Amino acid sequence: MSELWDDIDPDDTSPICPECGVSALPPEAMGEPSMCENPNCSTFGEPI
Ligand SMILES: [Zn+2]
Repeated sequence: MSELWDDIDPDDTSPICPECGVSALPPEAMGEPSMCENPNCSTFGEPI
């Protein structure tokens, strides 16, 4: 899946939700999990 990350800017730390493909909220702190910000996603509000 390395090609997936080729489109991401190195400075953009926002992860992509594996469920809906929408960029997720970056973690509030190093080591914290990211959370999907798509209200229609099954993992909305849950750690990715
Ligand atoms: Zn999602």
